[in-house]
Amino acid sequence: MLKLTPLLLLAACGDTYVLVPAYEVVDLGKFTTDTNGLVAVPWEAPEGAVFTEVFCGPYGYETTATAANVTSPDGTTVFDSAAPFQGGLRVGVFDDMLPVLVPVSPNLQAVAGEWSMTLSLAAADLPATVSCSAISGIGQTAAENRVDVHIVFVGVDGIAPGMTALAAESDDTVQAVMSGLDELWVDLGLSVGEVRYSDFSGDVASATSVDDPTELGNLLRTIDDGEELTFFFVRDLVLADDVSLLGRSGGTPGVAGQGGTSKSGVVINVANVVDSPEQVSLTMAHEAGHFFGLFHPTELDLSGNDPLDDTPECIDPEDDGCAENVMWPNPQVGTATTFSREQGWVVAQSPIVRPG
Ligand SMILES: [Zn+2]
Repeated sequence: MLKLTPLLLLAACGDTYVLVPAYEVVDLGKFTTDTNGLVAVPWEAPEGAVFTEVFCGPYGYETTATAANVTSPDGTTVFDSAAPFQGGLRVGVFDDMLPVLVPVSPNLQAVAGEWSMTLSLAAADLPATVSCSAISGIGQTAAENRVDVHIVFVGVDGIAPGMTALAAESDDTVQAVMSGLDELWVDLGLSVGEVRYSDFSGDVASATSVDDPTELGNLLRTIDDGEELTFFFVRDLVLADDVSLLGRSGGTPGVAGQGGTSKSGVVINVANVVDSPEQVSLTMAHEAGHFFGLFHPTELDLSGNDPLDDTPECIDPEDDGCAENVMWPNPQVGTATTFSREQGWVVAQSPIVRPG
């Protein structure tokens, strides 16, 4: 089954015209693992692909999956879970839904042909069956891009006066957050495009305090199909150990342009937005970076690094400028203000950005 969504438009971009990528979503069907939880998932990237993303699930919040390996069309193993920080691809371990995006580095680009991922599912009952789809984009990418943004207020109207869909356009706090995000995106060649505000239509009292990964995933699943990046503003976000988090992307990468999955957007804790709109802007920029496919340059515990050549690998962020990168694991307002050139390249290929 092939669902073609022709977004082929000529978009004005300064004096030049660029082709907006056309999107192709393919339902790959169902795949049943062997008794070890493994199954090969082949998918085709079309001619002229600028990105290709395969995603499999849902398999529930109690189960995790990753890729045992990924091969590119020429048969090269481009990811191997036995050496996950080598090469130009990264694949995380996800509950419920596994996305694998190419590219997340200029070192491994989305060439046409048959790719294959060996899904590795850690389910209690095996064999198990999952559904997979692939989304690919064809066309050209631009140096200057925008992302249309959808802000969903989830029971946060008492925090600042204008934290509702009706009042947000004229609320100083909300507008400070959005312009702060726009400023942080400058290094990525990215700007905030159209902004749409909504009030959450589900069970607000429950959803405003996200208490575990199930609640996080179920909130993200309410996103409709669309070409916006959706941020849910909530009062609290606690996924483990009673620690309040500032924000969380559905995944690194997220499932872009495709609603209804537990990885389709980003959740932001806005409890401190009045005291520090800058913190909320920074959290949005960092978590959106994950959604686009950007990883931490170096993990705080030094367990891994991103696949980019121009982000610093750090042992001590105080010494070598790591903390200046927005994708540093623990970014601080006023210090974490930059992205690298290759981070901008990855974002320009992201399924959710548009030229302009
Ligand atoms: Zn992070």
